[in-house]
Amino acid sequence: MKAPDQSVFGVRAVPFRMACASPSRRTLAHFFRGRIQGVRIGVGSVGVDQKRFSCFRLTNVKPFRTYTSTTQHPPRLFCVVGSGPAGMYATDRLLTHYGEHTRVDILDKSPVPFGLVRFGVAPDHANTKSVTNRFDGILNDPRVSFLGNVTFGRDVTLDELTPRYHATVLAYGADGDTKLGIPNEDELNGIYSARRFVGWFNGDPNHATQLSKSIDNSLTNRCVEESKNNHSTAVIFGLGNVALDCARILLRDVDELSSTDITSQALQTLKNSNIKKVLLVGRRGVAQSAFSPKELRELLNLEGVKVTVMDDTLELEDEEDLKNSRPRRRAWEAIQKAKDIRENSESNKNKKELSVRFLRSPVEFLCDENDPGSVGSVTLEVNTLTGESGSRKAQGSGVTETIDDVTIALRSVGYKSVSLDTEKNHTGYTQSVPFDHDKGVVPNSFGRVLQKTNAAMGGQQWQVPGVYVVGWLKRGPKGIIGDNLVCAEETVGSLIFDDAKGKLRKPDYRFKDKGVGPLVVKKGIEVVDIEGWRRIDVFEKERGASVGKPREKITEVDEMLKVARG
Ligand code: NAP
Repeated sequence: MKAPDQSVFGVRAVPFRMACASPSRRTLAHFFRGRIQGVRIGVGSVGVDQKRFSCFRLTNVKPFRTYTSTTQHPPRLFCVVGSGPAGMYATDRLLTHYGEHTRVDILDKSPVPFGLVRFGVAPDHANTKSVTNRFDGILNDPRVSFLGNVTFGRDVTLDELTPRYHATVLAYGADGDTKLGIPNEDELNGIYSARRFVGWFNGDPNHATQLSKSIDNSLTNRCVEESKNNHSTAVIFGLGNVALDCARILLRDVDELSSTDITSQALQTLKNSNIKKVLLVGRRGVAQSAFSPKELRELLNLEGVKVTVMDDTLELEDEEDLKNSRPRRRAWEAIQKAKDIRENSESNKNKKELSVRFLRSPVEFLCDENDPGSVGSVTLEVNTLTGESGSRKAQGSGVTETIDDVTIALRSVGYKSVSLDTEKNHTGYTQSVPFDHDKGVVPNSFGRVLQKTNAAMGGQQWQVPGVYVVGWLKRGPKGIIGDNLVCAEETVGSLIFDDAKGKLRKPDYRFKDKGVGPLVVKKGIEVVDIEGWRRIDVFEKERGASVGKPREKITEVDEMLKVARG
C-alpha cells in the first residue's frame, strides 16, 4: 500500500501501521525512535510527566506539519466525545494538524470538562492536575466548541453524529469497574469501588452526594465496640495506583488535605474518620505489583503512619520478574526500606497504620454483628504463585484468615469501559458503537473503529467510516494521563491518513456545517458552553479562595447549570 501524499507526522508511517496488529508502548517507542525524523512529540509543551516519556524525546525537532491554505482541503468538522485527557489531546492534535480550517465540537456528559483530571486525579496531586491549564487553552481556541451536559448514547447517538462531521472521535473513557465477584459484595453497605470512592472525594456529581451519607457512616459513625479500641479498618483490594490514592487519602493528615481541591464535605468526613488502619491487599506478590514506585514511596513515607508488610519474600521466579522490571524493583526496594525504618519507629506509635499484605485474595465479605446490613469483616485466602516469571498467577492455598473491624472495603481492581449507544435504529438494526465486552474496549485498529459482521455473515471486520477511538476506551484502563498523548497521536495519525485517502465522511449538506449543537438544543438539552464553564470555573475558584483552597468544586449538576446560566 502506498503512503499518502500528506504524510502522517511527516513520515511514511503506513508499512509499520499495517504490519502491527496491536503495538505496545515499547514497539511504538521503537517505531517513533527508529523511523520518525523531524517530528515533535510535544510532551514538554503539554505539561505531562516528562520522565515517563523520556523514550519519546527526540532530537532534530521540527514542528508538526499543518495545512495553511484553504486550497488544500475544505474545512474539516470533527466531533470528540469526551473532554478527558484522551479527548483533549486528540483535539490538540487535530487543531495542530489541520490548522485554521477546522472546527472541533467536544461533547461531555458532565457540565464541566476534563473528565478524569478533575474527577480521578487525587486532590493532593496538584502537579498532575496542572495539565488542565493546557487543556483550558485548547477549549479557549476559537475553532473549538464545548458542549457540556450532553450525554452520548442518551441525548445524542452515533447515528446522529456521523452525518454531521468528517469524523467522530470517541473518548469517553471507562465509566465502570471490575468486580471481585465474591459473596455479599453487592449486598452489604460499606463496600465501594475505588472509582466511586475517588469520585466521592473529588466531587463527581455522580458519586459525591449519592455516597456522602453512606461513606460518612462507613468512616465515622459506625459503632465499633469499645473492646475493639474504637478503631476501624479500611481494606483496599488491588495493588495499583488507584489503590494507593485511596489509601493515601484515608491516611494522610487531614490538615495537609485542607489546602487542596478536595470537597469540603469529604474533608469534614475524613476529619471525623475513625479509620486507624488501612490494609492494602494484593492477590499476587511484591514482584507483580502494579503501582509506580514514586506513588508507593509517597504512601510509605506519610507522616505519622506505621508500616507493616506481610509475605513479601521472593521466590526465584519473582527475582527474575524484578530483574526485568525497573519500576517493580524500585517498588520492592521502597517496601524493604519502609519495613526497616517505619515498622518499629517510636514516633509512629499509636498513630495510623498501613499494612500491606501480599498473596491474599478476598473470598467473602461478612456482616457486622451489630449492624447486619453493613460489612464487618472479610475472609482472605492465602495464595501461592504458580507459573513462569513474567506470567505468575495466584492460586488459593485453602488457608484462610479473617480481618475484623472492617467498616469500609474498597475494590480497586481496575476500571472498565462500558458499552454506550445500544439503541436500535429505525431500520431495526442495532446502530451501536461496537464494543468488545471481554476486553472492555471499542474494537479498533490504531484507533480506527472496527465493526464485525455476525458469525452467520462470516464474522469479518470492517472499518466504520469516520469513527475513531482514543484513550482507555481504545486500549483499556491502563496508563497515566500522559500516555493519552501518544495514544492520541496514533488515532489522529490514522484519521489523517484516512483523510488523505479520501476515507472520511462528508457532512450532510442539510446540517449546514453546524455540527450537533442545533440538534441538542432542539431536543431541549441545556448545553453548557465555554462561557458557562468559565462562569463555573470562576465561581469555584472564588469559593475556594475564601477557604484557602485552589477551588471549591460544585458537586451537584443542578447547581452547576445554575451557575453556568449566570
Ligand atoms: P491497575 O494498575 O491495573 O491495578 C489493578 C490491580 O488490581 C492490580 O494489582 C491487579 O492485580 C488487581 N486485580 C485485578 N483483578 C483482581 C481480582 N479479581 N482480585 C484481586 N486483585 C485484582 O489499575 P488501577 O489502579 O485502577 O489504575 C488504572 C491506571 O491508572 C493504571 O495504569 C495506573 O497507573 C493509572 N493511575 C496512575 C496514577 C498516578 O500516576 N499517580 C494514579 C491513579 C491511576 P494483578 O496484577 O494480579 O492482576
